[in-house]
Amino acid sequence: MNFGHYIIIEGQLEGGRFSCYSRLSGEHFVAQLMESRRNGTSGRGRTYPCPFLKNEPRSERYLCAIYPTRPNFCREFRCSHMDIFNSAGERVGRVGGKKSLLSKDRPLLTFWDREISPLATDDDQTWLPRAQSMLENAGYRVVRYE
Ligand code: SF4
Repeated sequence: MNFGHYIIIEGQLEGGRFSCYSRLSGEHFVAQLMESRRNGTSGRGRTYPCPFLKNEPRSERYLCAIYPTRPNFCREFRCSHMDIFNSAGERVGRVGGKKSLLSKDRPLLTFWDREISPLATDDDQTWLPRAQSMLENAGYRVVRYE
């Protein structure tokens, strides 16, 4: 999973800086291109479409060219199954690799305990779409990572 599909460059500023918008988190941020990584080839249009993912010259490595100023969404990413957004577009929960909910949102925690936790299956192929469907029926927007 990468988030480059969701990062929009809104404008170029002075000094190798860009004003950007993350469609996933609704976050506006200023990205500073790293001097040491500005000469790489952009990964856009290749396997990794993020405009800031650069192919290191003469290697197979791809690096984030704005690493110190990357958006919080990229910064906070851990191996996860899904992010959960409320009707206001705010991210209110993240489902970790072991299908555990990370959230401080009381309504979501209550819904999760009452409806999702009792789902009796360990099969991800079954559990994930069922959990997603139940969350969406309850008014949440779900972004899944596969
Ligand atoms: S970490 Fe960097 S390269 Fe990866 S998606 Fe975020 S901004 Fe793009």
